[in-house]
Amino acid sequence: MSVFKPDLYLKRFALLDVNELVKRNIRLLLVDFDNTIVPLGSPYIGAKEASKIRELKEQGIEVIILSNNKRSRVEPFARKLGVEFISFALKPFFHQYLRILTQKKCPVEQAAALGDQLFTDIIGANALGIYTIYCEPIGTKDRITTRVLRRIEEPFLKHERN
Ligand SMILES: [Mg+2]
Repeated sequence: MSVFKPDLYLKRFALLDVNELVKRNIRLLLVDFDNTIVPLGSPYIGAKEASKIRELKEQGIEVIILSNNKRSRVEPFARKLGVEFISFALKPFFHQYLRILTQKKCPVEQAAALGDQLFTDIIGANALGIYTIYCEPIGTKDRITTRVLRRIEEPFLKHERN
């Protein structure tokens, strides 16, 4: 299987079917921050996104925010949501995924990773055999580097959409 191909494709994070993850025996979800649960630069998390995180926790799935953004940006949201977070994660490099799985004593088969960027959120997790979920970005703004990456990602995502 290609590392470019997510296991699941979603229109947005809030549409995630938590029961599906429960059925798959997933107990740890590593979720991206910017444009996955909060629009880039936004001071607020949407009600639907916040309630989806609550639902995951209620169903026994531990949520950890795994973000390449800085601590000062991610921490207030993580505190509010009552979840752990890792900032400056340097995705798609493996080391943070491996660190979390080891720390949580979670086998790869019971972990999932979710995010809006194929090259940062999906590829690294895929390479490790973690169940991967791509979701379309919720924000309309992107960093310049992200904009460039999205253009490169586009052909890989095209056939996932339909
Ligand atoms: Mg993102």
